[in-house]
Amino acid sequence: MNVEGGCYCGAVRYKIDGDPAFRGECLCRECQYISGGGANIVMGVPESAFAYTKGAPKGFSRGDLETPVTREFCADCGTHLLATSPGLPGVKLLKVGTLDDPSVFGGADMVIFTVDKQAFHRLPDGVPTFERTPG
Ligand SMILES: [Zn+2]
Ligand SMILES: [Zn+2]
Repeated sequence: MNVEGGCYCGAVRYKIDGDPAFRGECLCRECQYISGGGANIVMGVPESAFAYTKGAPKGFSRGDLETPVTREFCADCGTHLLATSPGLPGVKLLKVGTLDDPSVFGGADMVIFTVDKQAFHRLPDGVPTFERTPG
């Protein structure tokens, strides 16, 4: 895939030139803060296929966790663009709502962290679910 995206205000832009390694929905409690309450819908994009083309995001990692993820977002409008995880080196967990055309996502291959699923979350049909991760 050869696509572009960016934050809500346009200060930060990126491009992807390459295919995602996976497509998923994460229901973990941490993602619920960032998504606003719903599933966090992400594509695993290889680092080599991803580049920022305008502006630079602000990064945040919790200091009280041993191996925190780093979340990258626009410092102006607050849109979360992606996260990186020490458990998934070389992969950008890109939030598909920031793509110029989110329909290219297609749909998730898996749902992870159903251990934190809320009663108001809906699981997609016919997609494997995992209490935590497939690993
Ligand atoms: Zn912005
Ligand atoms: Zn999550």
